[in-house]
Amino acid sequence: MAPGPTEIPPQVLSAGGEPILHHRTPEFRAIFADVCEKIKYAFQTTQPVLTLAAGGTGGMEATIVNLSAPDEKIIVISGGVFGERWAKIAEALERKVVRITVEYGKAVKPEEVRKALSENPDAVLLCGTLSETSTGALHPIEEIAAITKATNTLFALDAISGLVACKLKMDEWGVDAVVSGTQKGLMMPPGLALIALSERALTAMKTKKSPKFYWSFESALKKLTEDKLPDTPWTPNVSLVRQLQVSLQLIHAEGIENIWARHELLAHATREAMKALGLTLFAETPSVSVTSVHSPAGINSGDIVKKMRSEWGISIVGGQGTMEGKIFRIGHLGYCDRTDVLMTIAALECVLSGLNVPITLGAGTKAAQEIFLNSK
Ligand code: PMP
Repeated sequence: MAPGPTEIPPQVLSAGGEPILHHRTPEFRAIFADVCEKIKYAFQTTQPVLTLAAGGTGGMEATIVNLSAPDEKIIVISGGVFGERWAKIAEALERKVVRITVEYGKAVKPEEVRKALSENPDAVLLCGTLSETSTGALHPIEEIAAITKATNTLFALDAISGLVACKLKMDEWGVDAVVSGTQKGLMMPPGLALIALSERALTAMKTKKSPKFYWSFESALKKLTEDKLPDTPWTPNVSLVRQLQVSLQLIHAEGIENIWARHELLAHATREAMKALGLTLFAETPSVSVTSVHSPAGINSGDIVKKMRSEWGISIVGGQGTMEGKIFRIGHLGYCDRTDVLMTIAALECVLSGLNVPITLGAGTKAAQEIFLNSK
């Protein structure tokens, strides 16, 4: 019940134990071809999706490396640890960073994005986050994409904890680069970065004089398309690619709209349960991937997290950075259902009672049960 790495379905786990295929064999390339096609559905795109052997942060760095050059300007929506990560990467790569600073727990206002874009028409990239895992906030991506589309600035989106959980329609909304990782909504171990690129991004990429080798999107794209079956320039993480094939079969079978609805339901039940226990939510516009909650007065959230794990075997997480000790976060994304949510709430009630927080045992569970009973 952490917002990643998340639980893995048994079919996906066991696919990771299959013998390793050599990556240039027809057998592996057929698996990779299937993955390259089926992954587009997760991004709601018809554009190519690149698969890099990297964590999510590697995918973010690769995006900046390929879609901008040193000294170019990048606008970053910084409303949490992961929004700020875009800025840190860009600064490390010697780009000029303009921050739109958003109070933690809040979502950026589209007008602030419009203002930043009009004040910085020379910005080559706007970087944002779909689901800011550190605060639990969901940003208004559809509106931001609509604003950005009318400018010469490309919009790069971190959907690492948002993909296959929060509604995202890359092509329809007009997002230029979507970055994700495997360890969240895709129900996989960590280790693959996935990046989808719009036509605009593919064109811009060709003009960028930025030093790169392993991260080169052009090399990856060439190998993806030059032959009948897609290939990779370097050795791919073959086991993870095979696991992704299985996870994508599950995702296609359930249907993306149903998956979004399941996440909405689990998030709704979790939020109502927290409120019924007298707790306060941290995020103003909460994400359906993760629910962030203020720790009760006088309680360090780290103690709740520790007890959940040691007494109940349930992994939730605390706050990061300035939020450490002050909030706890319950992930409900990926391979997660109503049973997981009910058990987590019931265990949390016991932990809070054990810490002498004045709650009514069963109040949170009841709120969630009612939501589940009233859902179709
Ligand atoms: N962005 C977001 C929104 C995330 O949730 C995470 C992981 N928690 C990252 C970026 C970083 O991904 P990774 O840890 O795989 O590098």
